[in-house]
Amino acid sequence: MLSANGLITKYLSYFKSQGHAIIPSAPLVPENDPTVLFTTAGMHPLVPFLLGQSHPQGKRLTNVQRCIRTGDIEEVGDSYHLTFFEMLGNWSLGDYGKKETIAWSFEFLTKVLNIPPGQLHITCFSGDSRAPRDQEAADAWRVLFEAEEKISPEGKIHFIPDNWWGPAGQYGPCGPDSEMFIDVRSRKHWGGVSDEDFILLNKKGKMVEIWNDVFMTWEKTSDGYAPLSQPSIDTGMGVERVTMALNGFDDVYKSPLLSPLIRVIEEKSGHAYEESVDIKRAQRVIADHVRAAIFILADGVAPSNKEQGYVLRRLLRRAMVQCEFLNIPQDKTVPFFAKDLLQAVLDTYRDRTEYGFYSNIFEHESIICNEITLEISRFQKTLKKGLKELGNLMSKQGSISGRDAFYIYQTYGFPVELIQEWVQTKGLSFVQADFNEAKQSHQKQSRAGSRQRFSGGLADHEEISTNYHTATHLLQAALRKVLGEHVQQKGSNITQDRLRFDFSHDAPLSHEQLNKVEETVNNYINKKLVVECETVSLEKAKSLGALAFFGQKYGDSVKVYTIGGSQNPVSCEVCGGPHAINTSQLGTFKIIKQESISKGIRRIKAVLIQ
Ligand code: ATP
Ligand code: MG
Repeated sequence: MLSANGLITKYLSYFKSQGHAIIPSAPLVPENDPTVLFTTAGMHPLVPFLLGQSHPQGKRLTNVQRCIRTGDIEEVGDSYHLTFFEMLGNWSLGDYGKKETIAWSFEFLTKVLNIPPGQLHITCFSGDSRAPRDQEAADAWRVLFEAEEKISPEGKIHFIPDNWWGPAGQYGPCGPDSEMFIDVRSRKHWGGVSDEDFILLNKKGKMVEIWNDVFMTWEKTSDGYAPLSQPSIDTGMGVERVTMALNGFDDVYKSPLLSPLIRVIEEKSGHAYEESVDIKRAQRVIADHVRAAIFILADGVAPSNKEQGYVLRRLLRRAMVQCEFLNIPQDKTVPFFAKDLLQAVLDTYRDRTEYGFYSNIFEHESIICNEITLEISRFQKTLKKGLKELGNLMSKQGSISGRDAFYIYQTYGFPVELIQEWVQTKGLSFVQADFNEAKQSHQKQSRAGSRQRFSGGLADHEEISTNYHTATHLLQAALRKVLGEHVQQKGSNITQDRLRFDFSHDAPLSHEQLNKVEETVNNYINKKLVVECETVSLEKAKSLGALAFFGQKYGDSVKVYTIGGSQNPVSCEVCGGPHAINTSQLGTFKIIKQESISKGIRRIKAVLIQ
């Protein structure tokens, strides 16, 4: 069986041999991008570089990035969508182009991984008002298929309108993409199919997308689409899906990354995975959601009612309700999630080599275990309340409508099938279409909300978050000056409205200390200090005395940001940027809150007032 570890090693060494620098995975919570809750793809932390900023590791990059896609939460339960997954990727920042990318993709899949070319299907952009059909990509694929013995490209390369990557409704880089699919049916079915059949097979989970090559060629401007001055390449390959395919499975939950979790769930529930479609779905949801929750917790998020914390809460709740469906008693869910499933997840990553080794899940094992235990204990009460409310509604009205079901689903995080099943135990049912309608109208509202949030977007959020980013460096410098050099960054997060900074210090700050810190930062701002950036080796950065955030891995060469000149800087830190050019643009710095987040770690929230 080829492990995920084997795949990751093969991918990174292959692209390293093609001149790519291996860069670390960024955390799941984007540090300086308030527009999204989680890192959703390998390209996400690289957006500034795809937009033209120079990357300290050069123009060819590769890595494995941990990702969370909350947008896929409703798909979970099918055979290939997960909320947490790992993405391998390679990038050309204005370097190589479409032909090389396609040739490497094909060579890697068919020669390094030995996937039979007959099992592959390819899609290319079919063309519309934005850009013409991507014949160049299709021709490049065709030549590669033709060079293979006994393989005809007929019915293998499909032109599809969806194959376009770009920020919807916004200006910026975009372009056609070309996706690689694997036919997960048995060998006798492989071969060419019509575009219509291909789309149908994809909907049924028989043609599974494994890799996407995006050709960023155009810039969307107010006048339309203009050729991009620096065309780039962005590719993304799902580790779970490819590991599944390489082992001959048609279901990611059978891959070595998820099958140990399914074994635990089968054992604890006494239900075989294959017992029925519903049992299978419930087991998939538990495996996916608990695994995703563990990785979110490991990156420092705690359950709460907003943002990342809410996603985490929702994942754990949905998983708990599925336990009800599998007849696992609620008082058994604590050891089931916090011990059995946590250990199964840890075991699947224990043998990982350097890249794609997530030390955070091991380092924070006890925090993860405690948080899951607390959250589950809390929800057990809610679950009881929800079931009680259902009982009340039923006795008041004598029935449960689709709208009521949506209300319970939304308020208590109960899956609809659980509500339906509960209603059925009373010899009744509700109209699924009414539930769907209530849900759809809710989704339309919340999508409009999140689109708005996104279109706050790269352009105009940039300046605010850049200022907050620089203010964070000044805050760390001031804290070290006022409290002492033991102060070190333990975490940082920036939104449009505030900065949040976690640091080592074991007592609350007095009023005088808080005032002193505030005053020190404002002094730095008023001195109109220049902010300078230099790319150096990690060694050199250390010798310069640059502070580094130890929760994060760095590449071999890094950017060092110095504030206030290189002779006697007020701050010198290893950091990806971007930063303000001069502290004078920051406005007035004001601390709005201090709190303790765990033993020896304090948190400060602060704002900049223009
Ligand atoms: P799909 O259409 O199957 O949802 P996608 O178009 O959303 O895939 P991309 O955004 O192109 O996928 O992501 C690149 C790669 O990441 C995919 O080719 C796939 O291998 C993997 N991937 C994407 N979404 C998921 C997911 N929810 N679970 C597991 N792997 C995923
Ligand atoms: Mg998708």
